[in-house]
Parts: sequence; structure tokens; C-alpha cells
Amino acid sequence: MKKGQTSKRGGIQDILFPMEYMNITQGNNGQYSHQGANALDLAGKDTGRDLFYAPFDVRCVATGDRNTEGNAAFWQSVNQVRFADGTVDYATIMVLHDNSLNGIYPGATYKQGAQIGQEGTAGNATGNHNHFEIAKGKFTHKYDLNKFGIYHLPRSISADQACFVDGTTILNANGMKWKKLADVQVGGASNGTVLNEIPSDFIKESATFYCNVDKINIRLAPSLKGQLTGDWYENGMSVKYDGYVKREGYVWISWISSKTKRRHWMAVGELNKNGYNTKPYGTFK
Ligand SMILES: [Zn+2]
Repeated sequence: MKKGQTSKRGGIQDILFPMEYMNITQGNNGQYSHQGANALDLAGKDTGRDLFYAPFDVRCVATGDRNTEGNAAFWQSVNQVRFADGTVDYATIMVLHDNSLNGIYPGATYKQGAQIGQEGTAGNATGNHNHFEIAKGKFTHKYDLNKFGIYHLPRSISADQACFVDGTTILNANGMKWKKLADVQVGGASNGTVLNEIPSDFIKESATFYCNVDKINIRLAPSLKGQLTGDWYENGMSVKYDGYVKREGYVWISWISSKTKRRHWMAVGELNKNGYNTKPYGTFK
């Protein structure tokens, strides 16, 4: 995920991979310090101290000391969230090695996409990275000890069963099988969340939209229930489109994505009672 990225489908937040660059320097059951544990060491671009973002709306439930616990931060989801294996439950994560726990204390809450950490070297760490574990269910206690003598987050699962990687650039996936949002349908594909063809109410118009609002999500159908692509347009960006529809009180422009070759949709203004776009989210030329 990128900073500020969010994803919610059917009222449930999707768990997003918590860094912009995936570079797994030690994976599950790693022989350096992860024996028998579902745990990842994440080194980002490896050119500095990459940021760590909230994979969903989080509340801090515990922290650990610097030397023996590597400034451990434990976060639980505020609500139930969707895992990449399609299940919905509470989620708990553990993040180690941030050099500072500023703003990280039991009770602190942050929204999905907000920074909640940064790579560091606190505790038993060689080189800047974050150690990351994720478990299904609410937080119960900080650690279990396995037969290899490794302390780990209770009930932790393999992170590729939890996190969607939309918005993340994968440098080193460590052989893991990561999913994107489009891989896990919500409520089935027939409910209008994906619309790849041109619908009957489509009005052809070749023009360019120049966004002047903070952020507009790109979807696979012209509906607030339309599946999110994980990408968006923000202030200063523009897109060439080939037509639009008016639905659900919005104008939705559409184009074929050069990246995915799929038809994409985006709300670009709000309609008044007479069906006119009286609150545009940018300009059209
Ligand atoms: Zn580790």
C-alpha cells in the first residue's frame, strides 16, 4: 500500500500490505531468527528507513521495551476486516525494530493508510527493517514461545493469507503467493462490482479530466459498490476518457486502462436534482 491508501468493500476494510515496497529479507520459518514462526523481515527499498502504514484502522493494544523486545508495537483492528483468504475477522499485528515509539501507546488509534511505524534497528536487528507478524482474531497476549525457542505473536498466520498487495511494488516476494483485491470477489461478480463492457446508458465523449480534489478512487464499475482497483487520481493528475454515465447521483467517466487493459470508472462530480453536474471534482477539456 501507499501512504493514505484505503480499501473498503461491502462495509469491510481489506487488509493492505503495510509498506510501499515489498522486500522480504527473511521469511516464514527463516533460519536466522524465524524458526517455526510466521514472520517477515521487511526492508523496503533498502535505501533508508521506509515507512510502515496501518493496514486497516488500528488501535494499539500493547508495546514492548527497546532492548529485549525491539520496541514491539501490537495493534488490533478497530473493526472486523477482510483477509486475503476471503475470511472476515478481527486482525492483530506485531511490528518490531522501530527506533521510536513516539505516538505508539496502548489506546492510540490510526486510520488505514496512516503511518504507524518506520524501519529501524531497535532490539535484535541487523540493518534497518521491520519485523512483521499478523494473526486472526482479537489480541489476547503478546507472545507464545515455540519449540525452537522463538517468541512469536499467538496464532500468527502467513502474511500472504492476510494482506492484499495493491499499491505495493514487489521487489522480493520470497516465493510467497500474494493476492490483489480483484482476486477476492466480494458478494460475487454479478452484482455490478465489475463492469468491463460499455453499458446502455453510456454517453460517448472523448475529453480529458483534470482532477482538483484530494483523491478519487478508481473502480471497476460505475457504482460506490464498484470494486476498487487500488489506484486513484489526485489533485493535479489528468486522465483521457471516452465516455460517461450518470448513476447514484454521480457522473462516472470511463476509459480503458493502459496498465490493466480493463475498463475503469471514476466519479468526477455530483449531480443535482435535475441531473446536472453542479459539484465537479475537476475540470473537463
Ligand atoms: Zn524478524
